[in-house]
Amino acid sequence: MTRNHTPRQSCEKYLDDAFDLLHMKEEERQLLRSPYREIRFELPLKRDDGSVSLYYGYRVQHDQSRGPFKGGLRYHPDVDMDHFVALAEIMSWKTALLDLPFGGGKGGIDCDPGELSDNELETLTKRYIERVAKFIGPDRDIPAPDMGTGPREMAWIVDEYAHHEGFQPGVVTGKPVQIGGSLGRVEATGQGVALITRKAAKATELDLHQARVAIQGFGNVGRYAAKHLHDAGANIVAVSNAEGGIYHEKGLDIDAVIRELEKQQDNQNRLSAPNQDFDRISNDELLELDVDILIPAAIGGVINKKNADKIRAALVIEAANMPVTCGADSILLENGKTIIPDILANAGGVTVSYLEWVQNRQRFSWSADQVNETLVRKMNDAWQRVQDRVDEKQMNYRQAAYVIAVDRIHQAIVMRGF
Ligand code: NAD
Repeated sequence: MTRNHTPRQSCEKYLDDAFDLLHMKEEERQLLRSPYREIRFELPLKRDDGSVSLYYGYRVQHDQSRGPFKGGLRYHPDVDMDHFVALAEIMSWKTALLDLPFGGGKGGIDCDPGELSDNELETLTKRYIERVAKFIGPDRDIPAPDMGTGPREMAWIVDEYAHHEGFQPGVVTGKPVQIGGSLGRVEATGQGVALITRKAAKATELDLHQARVAIQGFGNVGRYAAKHLHDAGANIVAVSNAEGGIYHEKGLDIDAVIRELEKQQDNQNRLSAPNQDFDRISNDELLELDVDILIPAAIGGVINKKNADKIRAALVIEAANMPVTCGADSILLENGKTIIPDILANAGGVTVSYLEWVQNRQRFSWSADQVNETLVRKMNDAWQRVQDRVDEKQMNYRQAAYVIAVDRIHQAIVMRGF
């Protein structure tokens, strides 16, 4: 029987690789592996109809040696502590790789936001913050949006936190611009994915204008990655969301797909491409298409031991967090594929979150151009550092990114002492 790795097992395998390459001692490995704090608490919610539903809230704080914990809030029925530990770890490596003055954290609630009214979601979000208020703050732990949360939830967090500690917009990033959010934050992750895809295509001698691209997930990340790559001349032949995918061998008109989706109220219905003859495909079929570049931008673990051998794309860009399990990672590498790891590919979001936090601390707003220039510079720097390591040390991209990140955190731990 083929066993798939859990998210936590995948993280440990990548970490062990980095530890070996850095010749780290066992006690240092142990320290870097284990989270600083794991919190789980009950969240009973009185529903609009008078019944009571019980949810669980989570916050995992992994490492803070380079700055306050930083990481998103996920609302999804399938989350558990194992997931959040893995996601919090990844945030530590991501912030270190981008050289941001943060550590890593992650949290959320095991709810399906689609089943809750706006009123119920606001109550649940505020209750969550009430429970974690003493553990978070602009210098302690700074949540942000992730799957199932967005600017609206971040605004509720600012409000609830203000009741406990006074008005401090820097307690959370990804806020609406009207209450201290940054210009450019909404597009930042997808824009960064597109930037890294262009760099990776060049490094692997793929002509982006000739390349055929498939993108799984058409939410915040997938949609803006598709838009930026389409604008850069790439041929996006397939996109999908939870309802399934659409495919056109000559390339989809991405602007039209986005316009069509945005006409719908909840943005989550079936995708379509007006004025084009397209085929409907499943999410599994999308992953196995004959394309040059595959961008999983939805959920974790979609490329695993069961389908890794069927992946035909030469370049896989991890726009989602952990879309490739570690078992699949080895198979893809054996099959000669290039994988750009999540901690590099999707780091545009946390980079602009950092710029939002800086603006909040300055009580000042930057122009879109200033945000954009800084984002591009930081992503280019991180790419170049990873590429240099790949070239010098004959490592793959994931090993190079992990070695840089883990080494930075290790240095901070040693300098600060125990
Ligand atoms: P989102 O909720 O905006 O969109 C998720 C998309 O994935 C939607 O189109 C949804 O329909 C689709 N989807 C859900 N389940 C699916 C399934 N089983 N198969 C195919 N598609 C499915 O979320 P997002 O913010 O775009 O995040 C996507 C991924 O990127 C997550 O893994 C998230 O952790 C990661 N990420 C997000 C950000 C950010 O700034 N939003 C930053 C870094 C990483």
